[in-house]
Amino acid sequence: MARFPEAEERLLNKKVCMKCSATNPVRAKRCRKCGYTGLRQKSRISRGG
Ligand SMILES: [Zn+2]
Repeated sequence: MARFPEAEERLLNKKVCMKCSATNPVRAKRCRKCGYTGLRQKSRISRGG
């Protein structure tokens, strides 16, 4: 049984591909799914809660 690091995915420190909306690690330079380099940080500032 292998433990996948993705299991401990957090809302922050994640990058979302602007092409296929795939979730990539924050350290990723390109999408691991489509290879697109357009990754944006998935940081949502929740105001008020
Ligand atoms: Zn992608």
